Amino acid sequence: MEIIRSVDEMVAISRKIKAEGKTIGFVPTMGFLHQGHISLIKNARKENEIVAVSVFVNPTQFGPNEDLENYPRNEEKDLELCAEAGCDYIFIPKPVDMYREGYNTYVEVFGITEGLCGASRPGHFRGVCTVVFKLFNIIKPTKAYFGQKDAQQLAVIKKMVRELNADIEIIGCPIIREADGLALSSRNTYLTKDEREQALVLSKSLKLAKELIDSGMIEVSEIKEEMLRLISTAKDSEVDYIEFVDNYDLKPLNRIDRSNQVLIALAVKIGKTRLIDNMVV
Ligand code: AMP
Repeated sequence: MEIIRSVDEMVAISRKIKAEGKTIGFVPTMGFLHQGHISLIKNARKENEIVAVSVFVNPTQFGPNEDLENYPRNEEKDLELCAEAGCDYIFIPKPVDMYREGYNTYVEVFGITEGLCGASRPGHFRGVCTVVFKLFNIIKPTKAYFGQKDAQQLAVIKKMVRELNADIEIIGCPIIREADGLALSSRNTYLTKDEREQALVLSKSLKLAKELIDSGMIEVSEIKEEMLRLISTAKDSEVDYIEFVDNYDLKPLNRIDRSNQVLIALAVKIGKTRLIDNMVV
């Protein structure tokens, strides 16, 4: 596995790989890797000749009061996990190299970025789209892998690629969870032992929603009420949102209707840590 820290060097390498006619599978991450990230890398490994992973805590996707400075980092372990998972290139650029002096170009997808996480994190998806598009131009992937964990991000990236005619296949990969249901996330490291226990209300409330739907409940407001009741049993919880939306265009739904895939997405703060989870029914 080669470690690349310079944008120009990465561009030269991917240009050469493409000239040789090889396929590149790409997994963008912010590091502090866990088995969720590794599952994306393993999928990329199966389907491509070359696998590249980026580790970049992208400043433009963090709001002024978010955790950019404190975002967890562990480069040594990231390198170890990437090598183990069969990655060929790990790209770890510096913010000053990605955003050079005077940088002033952004990619913005409108509409589907306004609800869910976009509502409480203004500018977040503009930062995500910008960095992902830049990384696509640097790495030139054949296929790029994203987790369903960030369901809105996945939908936004698919829309961006479609609408900007980027010649890249976007592959969504399932959410990897702990045995007790907690979705793996780099931010889980912020949780105290007690908060870690309380954080189970996210996956439990999704499971409850599925059970209610399976038992015939179709009114979203009624299902939401039951989910809120369950979440309120966690003493340090504060719900940011619970939304039922169409899984394709993320438009809000009022009733469960067998004709579309419903994405049930939620963001809940447990103590100071904002966690997200979702389920498609
Ligand atoms: P991040 O490092 O948080 O930006 O995540 C990088 C990629 O890993 C994104 O496409 C995430 O959706 C994906 N990812 C993060 N957590 C999980 C998980 N528990 N299961 C599957 N994919 C995940």
